[in-house]
Amino acid sequence: MTPNTSDHATDVESSTKTTTAAGETDSALVTARRQLERAATHADVDDGVVERLKHPTRVQRVSVPLERDDGTVEVFTGYRSQHDDVRGPYKGGLRYHPEVNANECIGLSMWMTWKCAVLDLPFGGGKGGIAVDPKSLSHDEIERLTRRFAEEIRDIVGPTRDVPAPDMGTDAQTMAWFMDAYSMQQGETIPGVVTGKPPVIGGSHGREEAPGRSTAIITREAIDHYGRDLSETTVAIQGFGSVGANAARLLEDWGATIVSVSDVNGAIYDPDGLDTHAIPTHDEEPEAVLEQDAPHTLSNEEILELDVDVLIPAAVGNVLTDDNADDVQADIVVEGANGPTTFAADTILEERGISVIPDILANAGGVTVSYFEWLQDINRRQWTLEEINEELEVKMLAAWEDVRTEVERKDLTWRDAAYVVALSRIAEAKAVRGLWP
Ligand code: GLU
Repeated sequence: MTPNTSDHATDVESSTKTTTAAGETDSALVTARRQLERAATHADVDDGVVERLKHPTRVQRVSVPLERDDGTVEVFTGYRSQHDDVRGPYKGGLRYHPEVNANECIGLSMWMTWKCAVLDLPFGGGKGGIAVDPKSLSHDEIERLTRRFAEEIRDIVGPTRDVPAPDMGTDAQTMAWFMDAYSMQQGETIPGVVTGKPPVIGGSHGREEAPGRSTAIITREAIDHYGRDLSETTVAIQGFGSVGANAARLLEDWGATIVSVSDVNGAIYDPDGLDTHAIPTHDEEPEAVLEQDAPHTLSNEEILELDVDVLIPAAVGNVLTDDNADDVQADIVVEGANGPTTFAADTILEERGISVIPDILANAGGVTVSYFEWLQDINRRQWTLEEINEELEVKMLAAWEDVRTEVERKDLTWRDAAYVVALSRIAEAKAVRGLWP
């Protein structure tokens, strides 16, 4: 078996068409492309640039053999999609999940390109992962799998090339193994090859809480924009992992009433408000939400249809679809997860006057603090948590203002406005760099 194969973009895309014809119209790639086409009609961007942005620069597919603890060998498939690097090195997470595939990685890497551009970070977009259920592997097996994956994609990553980070199913420990494997082969310690590491090896304070913190900041600004008060705002949050739990706790601290939170098994609901600090996060104690005392329990579908002011889907993708978008009763949806709203659901929510604040703005605190981590690594200097949170607040408010200006100037949805901000920056960079040869 050849362990290292590289798909040309066209091979991957032709499989997209097959997938689409088979009815899976909501893959991340399909959604990302439709969003791009729609947003391009509002942006003053050359058609050639839009065409280039529909295609990733490179998609690497690798086989990752793993010796299980019992001595048997299993081979998993890993991917790294590098979408665009006109503004800087590719940047984005590594996901360990059974449904990881090439098209999902391409779609997610496109979102990273826009996310970095909306926040005006000097990065492009990447995303990768391994099609594996990490819950089925031991700690040692995950370590061996990660080290081998790092070795298989070593040629295309690096602090000035492509900088991975945690995503679904991976964490700071995964990044530490990745960084160690890469550094051992390069013959020197290179902390800037990944972000989201433990602080003791160059990780940043506040990185883990950052996507939840930015989701809370953007929710707070949205509430203010619509002339409301956080102390009179009810919020339901699907997912109690690092994004959902941190957003919930901050919003509660800032005065909002968190009426419902959920994990993979279901939701708890208290119309008078939950004490979110007392509920263990997924990291503290996995799947503990339903074990908490609360007057009501709900299913993961029902939480999305609660009559609340703000709904924050902060778990997996594609949870708001054309099947349930008509039943959403929130006034504002803030996307804590990546890609929780399908293209069709977006249209329904828009028609119903429900504002959707997109992932590429709301959860961008993760990659923003990754950028701070990368700067700290390059400069061999550690910032304090206060410095991180202050700088994050500044970056989030600047991006919020840039997007809000487009919403008001052109009467756009929040998603279209965020795309317009991102596309304009990317197109300008492409124009000055030119197309060569
Ligand atoms: N995986 C995170 C995201 O989707 C963070 C990526 C990063 O920090 O590079 O935004």
